[in-house]
Amino acid sequence: MSKKMFINGEWVDSLTKETRQIINPFNQEVIAKVPEGNREDAKVAIEAARKAFDQGDWANTPANERGKIVYKIAQLIERDKAELAKLETLDTGKTLIESEADMDDIAEVFRYFAGLADKDGGEVIDSPIPNSDSIIVREPVGVCGQITPWNYPLLQAAWKIAPALAAGNTIVIKPSEITPLTTIKVTELMEEAGVPAGVANLVLGTGATVGAELSESNDVDLISFTGGIETGKKIMQAASNNVKNIALELGGKNPNLVFADADFETAVDQALNAVFFHAGQVCSAGARLLVEDSIHDEFVEALVERTKKIKLGNGLDASTQSGPLISAEHRAKVEKYVELGKEEGATLAVGGSRPEEDELQNGFFYLPTIFTNCTADMRIIQEEVFGPVLTVERFQSEEEVVSLANDTIYGLAGAVWTTDGLKAKRVASQLRMGTVWINDFHPYFAQAPWGGYKQSGIGRELGKPGLEEYTETKHIFTNLDPQPVHWFK
Ligand code: NAD
Repeated sequence: MSKKMFINGEWVDSLTKETRQIINPFNQEVIAKVPEGNREDAKVAIEAARKAFDQGDWANTPANERGKIVYKIAQLIERDKAELAKLETLDTGKTLIESEADMDDIAEVFRYFAGLADKDGGEVIDSPIPNSDSIIVREPVGVCGQITPWNYPLLQAAWKIAPALAAGNTIVIKPSEITPLTTIKVTELMEEAGVPAGVANLVLGTGATVGAELSESNDVDLISFTGGIETGKKIMQAASNNVKNIALELGGKNPNLVFADADFETAVDQALNAVFFHAGQVCSAGARLLVEDSIHDEFVEALVERTKKIKLGNGLDASTQSGPLISAEHRAKVEKYVELGKEEGATLAVGGSRPEEDELQNGFFYLPTIFTNCTADMRIIQEEVFGPVLTVERFQSEEEVVSLANDTIYGLAGAVWTTDGLKAKRVASQLRMGTVWINDFHPYFAQAPWGGYKQSGIGRELGKPGLEEYTETKHIFTNLDPQPVHWFK
């Protein structure tokens, strides 16, 4: 499969004609060849998006008409769901069932923002000045640079593309250089849906080249980024060039709090799902388990038994429960953290190595791993591993567990397991996180804002705030009875 980038309504190679091979992390086979763009390609795309915004009709197209086009994209995603899901699995290694669920969510995100496009017609406010009126309107921000990670390539792209287009912006999107395939396919669908030339542009390449150009450019009005904290900091600095609007969805180290009065079986089952889903490569992974002392040992025993049974394999195989990690480099990072955990004195309860099966040797597999006897000062507790590694701590009291859970630089998500409704609410209100689940883990949907407290990010995606990110607020004041003010006599 050989693909191109999309700039100003044309499918193009990179200016240098350089290409990159895209690898299936299950077996390292080359699945596609794509252009490798760089700063010059990004500049051309930004110029196209600038022109489409400043001189094109998109921003002034009635919002309901923009909504219809965004809705059409949702329909095309549903039409091509099987192809998209397979591409996502080949590109990321995640199981097909996960990819199919992603595609359903993605279509829903486009439908949600399509519907929201014409719902905020502005507001009339009470003016304190006699014989005047004041209205508040929301307008598109302008040219939006959008940079996405490799773990949920199309889902993260959808959270950015759908609201940006619905609000009347023009975009230049750059997917992760290692997982661009579904974003390319959806760009084809945007073209088919009737998104005008120059409104949606796709540039492929690395963060250091294309990503940096988008972040630095004076012609980009907003940069929306999903990825790691260190990259987020660089983007913030680069965005200061022209004081861009910024939206950052960064990492997480998400605590999963299990009280002794929780439904034991459900909490065990969901604790596994919380961390080992997509091999732990999830920003909201419940990688940090805190269990009340009186049930700790029994809980860990049940977890370890079930962890041993997790079946690794090819994401396309229906019996596979977990795929490989994304790359050799990423697996090496996970392995370093496991070594660090041992050095720090945590107890390795299960996993801690690569699997031995012959059929997994060409993939970047790592066994689901659990560390017990962990303490809050350890780096494996404080830092995001982003792999199939669960740490377990014990706690004695509600006060202690709230303090432990809040004691990291992150604030993306967390969960509380208890059958005491009042306690659940009390704890949820004290957790400094953008999402708290009570007796569940992972649910997110288009209607609910998503984002982080503390260093997990700035701004919100999804929900009404997800559309507001892509708008500027304007106050229009009209004096209905203008008179001289005689300030200067
Ligand atoms: P990453 O930060 O390495 O890369 C993300 C994107 O940024 C890629 O497209 C990359 O090419 C680009 N990039 C890299 N350096 C850049 C630079 N200097 N300037 C501009 N762009 C640059 O992250 P990753 O490894 O792809 O993804 C994993 C991270 O993403 C994890 O930390 C995870 O928690 C986070 N994440 C967060 C959310 C969320 O909703 N908060 C969702 C998914 C992933």
